[in-house]
Amino acid sequence: MAVDLSKEAKSRGIRYFLISFVDLFGNLRAKLVPARAIGDMQKEGAGFAGFAAWLDMTPAHPDMFGVPDPDSLIQLPWQPEIGWLASDLYMDGKPVAASPRVALKAQLAKAQKQGLRMKTGVECEYFLISEDGTTLSDARDTQSKPCYDQQALMRRYPVIREICDSMIELGWGPYQNDHEDANGQFEMNWDYDDALKTADRHVFFKYMVKTLAENHQLRATFMPKPFADLTGNGCHAHVSLWDKGGKKNLFLDKKDKRGLGLSSTAYGFLGGIVHNAEALCALFNPTVNSYKRINGAVTRSGATWAPNTVTYSGNNRTHMIRVPDDGRFELRLMDGAANPYLMQAGFLAAGLDGLENDRNPGQPQFNDMYAEPHKVRGAKRLPLNLLDAIRALDKSKRLREGLGDELVDAFVKLKTQEWSAYCAHLSDWERDNTLDC
Ligand SMILES: [Mg+2]
Repeated sequence: MAVDLSKEAKSRGIRYFLISFVDLFGNLRAKLVPARAIGDMQKEGAGFAGFAAWLDMTPAHPDMFGVPDPDSLIQLPWQPEIGWLASDLYMDGKPVAASPRVALKAQLAKAQKQGLRMKTGVECEYFLISEDGTTLSDARDTQSKPCYDQQALMRRYPVIREICDSMIELGWGPYQNDHEDANGQFEMNWDYDDALKTADRHVFFKYMVKTLAENHQLRATFMPKPFADLTGNGCHAHVSLWDKGGKKNLFLDKKDKRGLGLSSTAYGFLGGIVHNAEALCALFNPTVNSYKRINGAVTRSGATWAPNTVTYSGNNRTHMIRVPDDGRFELRLMDGAANPYLMQAGFLAAGLDGLENDRNPGQPQFNDMYAEPHKVRGAKRLPLNLLDAIRALDKSKRLREGLGDELVDAFVKLKTQEWSAYCAHLSDWERDNTLDC
């Protein structure tokens, strides 16, 4: 055993552990385990009823166990008597194939067999709003172009500093914090790393931001589009593939003929993302609300900063994929509701398909895609709603091969139920526009 959690508890003064897992809908669930019981739990896992979470299980299924990954241990900087752990789900002694962290690890293992290691960094945008969730929390944050507004940023300094200090203490390498493009919206950036580490940190970041905001009588939301007229919450990711040792960036080629500093491996991977984009939307934009961000009307600030077509570019934020620098690309499709594990599993499933099948991403486009979309002929459109995305995932042979039928079937079934629940809701818009038909 690499790390003995019992010993860690004693040496670090941890009294309780959160043994957590993320279900298919991205919900973080946990058991709070006293340090006296962590020895057995580390071996056997914490027991859960699968049906009680968003996993496609029935009440008749046997116990599911969350076996903690000791390498994921994070001691809460603001509550050091608690240690947080990500866990992998097991049932009947076998990993649950239709669970997000297990699915990501399977993709990483597949890549590793090919000598590949994916590194990623994520940019999780969020709003700080009123505790009841209805309004912005800062009445003075009203500029139509509020991005980088120093005054509004510094009015939230007490909570931003606590979050950033926590990341410094945890060794994540945070390097900048800003007010983003919507009133009440913020973004905090930390160093990129191996994909699993970034995914675990992404999960913890959301928990940390929500908790510390609550401590300041605020509420943090990562909802893709909480306000119709403001820019939504994206979750852009920077992606690169490295050799097994993690020293050589396999996406880097300074002699790239297209001038973007990318290798043929990078273009193959990109080709896979472009080829599978519609189906990936189900994972990257997994809620009804997601489609109000990626297909949204121009916002008060003048741009949505979200893509609506499947195109890639150089350092140009109006396309789905931006290449800001040599040797990596930024995928701008995902939003704040994306499941941190399924998102990264999706990158790999699509990217490896691109490499295996030599997918061509086509030529980069350098137009302003918001102002002049007609300049790109034949660009694929993104799904207009969740149902279209779910159907695309259901039909995707490649993502099924990558993620496994068990996971895709479970995800499609549960998300279709969610879509049906949404459709059963009668909206004011319908009444306003149909009552006198
Ligand atoms: Mg941003």
